[in-house]
Amino acid sequence: MGLGDEMVERARAEAAQSPASAPAGEGTDALRGEAAALAAALPEPPAYRRARDPAREKAQELLPVAVSLLSRAFAAAEAAPAGGRETRLAQALEAQVRALAAMAEGDIAAGDDLAREARALWRERGRVGALFAAGAPPTRKAFDREAGTSRYDPLPEPTLAAELFCPNQGCQRPSPYELSPAHATHRFRCARCEKPFTGHFVELRSAQARSIGSATHYALRVFPLGGGEATLEFDDTSGGSLSATQGDLLVLLYAGTGSLGAVENLSTGQVLWIAPKGACFLATAVYGEGAAELDDFRRFRDRVLAARAWGRALIRLYFAVGPSLARMARRNPALGRLARRGLEALRPRLP
Ligand SMILES: [Zn+2]
Repeated sequence: MGLGDEMVERARAEAAQSPASAPAGEGTDALRGEAAALAAALPEPPAYRRARDPAREKAQELLPVAVSLLSRAFAAAEAAPAGGRETRLAQALEAQVRALAAMAEGDIAAGDDLAREARALWRERGRVGALFAAGAPPTRKAFDREAGTSRYDPLPEPTLAAELFCPNQGCQRPSPYELSPAHATHRFRCARCEKPFTGHFVELRSAQARSIGSATHYALRVFPLGGGEATLEFDDTSGGSLSATQGDLLVLLYAGTGSLGAVENLSTGQVLWIAPKGACFLATAVYGEGAAELDDFRRFRDRVLAARAWGRALIRLYFAVGPSLARMARRNPALGRLARRGLEALRPRLP
């Protein structure tokens, strides 16, 4: 019996001893979060054998964590309906445990195959509720000597069907589109508002987010569809967050004006609406883009509010409700006039 089998057996025995205490739902959410963190930390299998391989050490370190997660996943799957999210999560985690065990033992070939299988299953587990179908993103070996293919070859799948949100101001509505996964950048015309937009499709390798003032700076390491590797950086002041793990298929949606409007995680259906630095949803909707009045409100936000803890809480609240307020004001002229009167009364009092 190999180390992988041994570890899976251990998780099964632990699960049998301590069945799921929490009902499906909250407990499973916590488990999914921890599993996502593990999937993101899964090391790339070593490219060749080395005496002290960092990937091997990392695998040895992660293996006990993975086994304990797997035992919780087995228990959760036992308590949940067969074939549901919990079952898929347990399958994905079992593949991760086997991949980590092979890497921890220094078995490179098996580790590479198992890690690819683990990534595919990890993506599969999220297909329930995902916003795209057909044509999975590339999961092939960097270079497959037998087949003579590489991860960077165009994909054989002819089309990818995806539900994309229009990033144009005032629209932000979803429609189904089809595209070729052979390259990363595609132009679309919104089926709802007929404005053009651009989508840049990438598979996530790793993501970093850090706060700078009221903005969050994102740096994503990605494999663009069709080939290559890139780092994408952008700022967001919406107060929202991007939840994505290694292997997720993301699309960066640029409005016709060229500004990044949204980042959509096609594997989970989550959308992060980007608010650029200096954005002021409601005032922009009321006064129009580029209006001089906007500067007064931005100055107030950046100099007065952002400098105080209660002000920052207010900014976060505003960014949470601001976009929907702005949408309402744009669609309902009476509401827009009311908002304008409110803002006009406030403006002379701004310091
Ligand atoms: Zn549109």
